[in-house]
Amino acid sequence: MNRRQALGILAGAVAMPKTVLASPGAAAAPNVLSAQVVRLALRHTWTTVMSTSSFRDVVQVRIVRDGITAIGEGAPIPRYHESAVSALRAIESVRTLLERADLQQFVPLLAEVGKRIPGEWAAKAAIAGAVADFVGQKLGLPLYRYFGLDPSAAPLTTMSIGIDTPEMTRQKVSEAADFPVLKVKVGLDSDEATIAAVRAVTKKPLRVDANEGWKNKEVALRKLHWLAGQGVELCEQPLPAEQVTEAKWLRARSPMPIFADEACLRLADIPRIAETCHGVNIKLDKCGGIFEAHKMIATARAHGLKVMLGCMISSSVSIAAAAHLSPLVDYADLDGFLLIGNDSMQSITVERGKICLPSRPGLGLVPRAA
Ligand code: MG
Repeated sequence: MNRRQALGILAGAVAMPKTVLASPGAAAAPNVLSAQVVRLALRHTWTTVMSTSSFRDVVQVRIVRDGITAIGEGAPIPRYHESAVSALRAIESVRTLLERADLQQFVPLLAEVGKRIPGEWAAKAAIAGAVADFVGQKLGLPLYRYFGLDPSAAPLTTMSIGIDTPEMTRQKVSEAADFPVLKVKVGLDSDEATIAAVRAVTKKPLRVDANEGWKNKEVALRKLHWLAGQGVELCEQPLPAEQVTEAKWLRARSPMPIFADEACLRLADIPRIAETCHGVNIKLDKCGGIFEAHKMIATARAHGLKVMLGCMISSSVSIAAAAHLSPLVDYADLDGFLLIGNDSMQSITVERGKICLPSRPGLGLVPRAA
């Protein structure tokens, strides 16, 4: 089975609900575009401070041209009023532009996409991912080589442990035995019990993500001091994103580096974040895709920030796009594809936590063996 056949099967096999955006004029256009919602089934019910769910819907874009099938994916983030349906609608709104574009002139193309689509960053990330996959395949280069990066410099990724009962937390930590570092979701009154459950199983270094769950700076500082004594090395988004003054106060006193996630969405947020945090968690779904994330990493460095690449719950299509940039960053949290049970494609692999980038061109996607 070749890659194109496999992608055809992928589209039919895992799309639920499936919404293909057919266009009467598509056959005559240089690029054949399709977009669909793909439902990802979670291996464990996923709970953070913000939500709980057993599946996630993402949007995928495929572009076929010159014998190349390119694919990109975005995970709509409800916190920013995005859904798979709104993402599909956004992609449809630029269908003609994408079908007629010279994909290798992707800088002006994606700038125009950005102008025409208000918001809808996951849709933009899916489009950018497909365009990057096409360009990489056309040039015969894996994307890390396109960006001039050394694949051996790819960092470890954490494995995330969502909020759960102590018993389930212990089970998840046991299942993550291969990962040298874990990222534990906190932000509730049960934080101490959660960390105790983790520590009942392992002594490995931990990172925590409070997802804005601590509602005032005094509580956050007390939690951070306690967590520092538990072998926690950094904390993501301790306070609600809008608490800017409080974040500056906390930054000055924190016993560990604080990373912005919900408080830093896009490039223009970086200078402000440099005053409130030590680092930033960059996600392609928040910023609009791989090329924008590349600019954000450079800008964060220019402002003296540490950089983490993060992800939403996603298939290998999205994770690959982020992973090709990962040699540029200090920390990676690119485990989204490991949290689902129906990932039909494969690109990166993770060996004892280390991200291994494929040498195949573009995103390097192939069908996942059954
Ligand atoms: Mg986070």
